[in-house]
Amino acid sequence: MAETDNTSVARIEAVLNEVDRALERLRAGTYRSCQVCGAPIDEASLVESPLLAHCPAHPELS
Ligand SMILES: [Zn+2]
Repeated sequence: MAETDNTSVARIEAVLNEVDRALERLRAGTYRSCQVCGAPIDEASLVESPLLAHCPAHPELS
């Protein structure tokens, strides 16, 4: 497999992992809460970035 293909697979897997975690948070009822400080995440931010897991207080994580 070419190097580019490996990179693409890794990127796709990373996105799939994020989707998995978002679905788990939805089932656990913590989807709209910041995973770091527990603050509620803005609904508009979630519409824009459905995989968002942190509030704006942690820009280094997004
Ligand atoms: Zn936070």
